[in-house]
Amino acid sequence: MNIVILLGAPGSGKGTIASRLAAENDNLKHVSSGDLLRGAVAKGTAAGVEAKGYMESGNLVPDALIAQMIKDVVAETTGDVTMLLDGFPRNLAQAKILEEMGAPIRSAVLVDVPDAIIQDRIAGRRTCPSCKAGYHVTGLPPKVPGVCDRCGTALTIRKDDNPETVKDRLVVYHRETEPLIAFYTEKGLLRRIDGNQGPEKNAAAFKAAM
Ligand code: ADP
Ligand code: ZN
Repeated sequence: MNIVILLGAPGSGKGTIASRLAAENDNLKHVSSGDLLRGAVAKGTAAGVEAKGYMESGNLVPDALIAQMIKDVVAETTGDVTMLLDGFPRNLAQAKILEEMGAPIRSAVLVDVPDAIIQDRIAGRRTCPSCKAGYHVTGLPPKVPGVCDRCGTALTIRKDDNPETVKDRLVVYHRETEPLIAFYTEKGLLRRIDGNQGPEKNAAAFKAAM
């Protein structure tokens, strides 16, 4: 098992890239910290109850809470698998926790999208609450408006995808997560792709870079 980290702002398309690549390659496993957390919130587990308020306000949940979830997934992932780790680490403390887990990190790929584009990306984002597929009303529309192509469930807008919370999430990204670019550059692990090429080309560029 080894790990490829996806770095990039909220709405940069990390999840779309990772789920596309994982769907076409059995040796790739997409692990999204946001999906793990939303799953815990939906189930009402102790971790979910604790995480909910942080998430709704656009803040990071406590490091120990998300780190434990990731640790569990890393422990159960064995064999010839590359984990596409989407949303973790999100600050330097988490990057150090990940190193201590001991799983080899193959690369950290930054999906580069200017802030100006992010607001529009997130405003048009729609998500399938059932299978987690992601869409965009204009950039990546479902075949039938408002309905998931894969499983037919009605698409929803995430609670934290409102313009006010998005602003806060971008502030948190620049302050907490961006320092990881220098961290992984120093380790010789950083790769960078243009995240503004459309879903198909983004995925291809990512695959080549990782
Ligand atoms: P996005 O990348 O669009 O911001 P995510 O689905 O990755 O969305 O994350 C949604 C929310 O979940 C974040 O705003 C944050 O509250 C929480 N979260 C996800 N990953 C982490 C993490 N590694 N550390 C702390 N909080 C996290
Ligand atoms: Zn679906």
